[in-house]
Amino acid sequence: MTSIAPRARGRVLPTMNEDGTRRWVRPRPSAGRWETRRRGVAWGLMALYLAIPHLRMNGKPLILLDAPRREFTLFGYTFLPTDTLLFMLFLGTVIVAVFLLTALFGRVWCGWACPQTVWMEYLFRPIERLLEGGPAGSLAIDRGGNRFHPRRLAKFAVFLAMALVLGHTFLAYFVGVDQIVLWVQRSPAEHPTAFAVMAVTTTLVFADFAYFREQTCTIACPYGRWQSVLLDSSSLIVAYDHRRGEPRQRGTKRRGATAGDCIDCGLCVQTCPTGIDIRDGLQMECIHCTQCIDACDAVMDKIGRPRGLIRYTSREMLAGTARHLLRPRTVIYPVALAAFLGTFVFLLSTKATADVTLLRGVGDPFTVSAEGRVVNQVRLRIANRSRADQQYRIDVAAAEGATVIVPVNPFPVARGRTETTSFFVSLPDAAFAGGEPIITIRISDGGTFDDTYQWRLLGPARARAGGDGGTGGGSG
Ligand code: SF4
Ligand code: SF4
Repeated sequence: MTSIAPRARGRVLPTMNEDGTRRWVRPRPSAGRWETRRRGVAWGLMALYLAIPHLRMNGKPLILLDAPRREFTLFGYTFLPTDTLLFMLFLGTVIVAVFLLTALFGRVWCGWACPQTVWMEYLFRPIERLLEGGPAGSLAIDRGGNRFHPRRLAKFAVFLAMALVLGHTFLAYFVGVDQIVLWVQRSPAEHPTAFAVMAVTTTLVFADFAYFREQTCTIACPYGRWQSVLLDSSSLIVAYDHRRGEPRQRGTKRRGATAGDCIDCGLCVQTCPTGIDIRDGLQMECIHCTQCIDACDAVMDKIGRPRGLIRYTSREMLAGTARHLLRPRTVIYPVALAAFLGTFVFLLSTKATADVTLLRGVGDPFTVSAEGRVVNQVRLRIANRSRADQQYRIDVAAAEGATVIVPVNPFPVARGRTETTSFFVSLPDAAFAGGEPIITIRISDGGTFDDTYQWRLLGPARARAGGDGGTGGGSG
């Protein structure tokens, strides 16, 4: 369970002073083995996050979250609005995987892979340090009170350029990179709404990295708050070894054997991107970025003490007991993960290569022609999930005397697309005397997809009986 840690005097939050003013966190970079690894991972991830909207799989974008059409394409598969169960199973798989990852490795996502951390620590902060002269330079500009300091203005100009790139990239995940390119090439007057969305997104990205910064992790993101239930005493965390470090004693005050290894230099605090002191215990604001490990290891090297006063460990190991890998949550989560993933893969692999939906005509449920024949319009929506363009043959078996008009037959649907067509069935009024006739519709692509559907026609008898005109439906 997350401990309630005492705050530094005069501070309510790591980013807020007692008088309510913002405490700007200007972390001092710490070189070391963990920083080298994180930097490699971060650069790889930044390239990946920028590249994903451009990557394709099975002829589709790798990731496209088309919210207006309620179609989500993930790794070459498009979840349609009719795929609620599949999509829920996919989300369930991701959520349980995050639970398991956290139970085993703590906030490894936050510290190593979250886009907020990656962009903030490996793009925006390095630019800030370069242009403002490091944490000391930033502090001097803060204290000078000159909001239009040339170095700060230069930083904001570069931040804005970065925000433009990231804002456009972010939106490409939702509308596709082709659409973004089209919008960028045309005048904003031709697409004012899209331009406004783009401007707002860019502003939000800029505000996030220029102003809100680490508060996204410590205040806005709910994941940190879930820690208290997702972590247990065996989970891997970044932690300070109290037993080894205390009593901390600074510099010349250190008294030989009675002193702990912590020399109270404060470097672990100065390097922390969320502005906390890890020696206060496990805190919600700790994103497990490992910067304090590198800072402290360098100090230990200098004073000739073993590295690892701050390290990856678990609360069990800190207390001197062995780490338990086998525990209820490391058994339950994998079982749940296997159940979600197994069901998802099974349903996905056995799914038909087309989704067919039958709908009634828009407006009146049926019309009566001048010759006294009852005409039903049936709309047919076909989602082609196969890997090729298809021609769907529509065959309708109706009662004797029926006339079937299928304007487009076979009906072409490109791969990955969903198209709608209509056909019409007309019957003499007398055909409804004994109830509503049922027709059989067969849809076939001449290959892997061949299915039949029952559909109830509506007519005057139904209307006279006070029916709602909307019953009946397709069934495979
Ligand atoms: S960096 Fe290490 S030695 Fe320095 S204050 Fe932090 S824990 Fe103590
Ligand atoms: S306490 Fe250490 S691991 Fe946690 S956020 Fe701060 S620097 Fe990163």
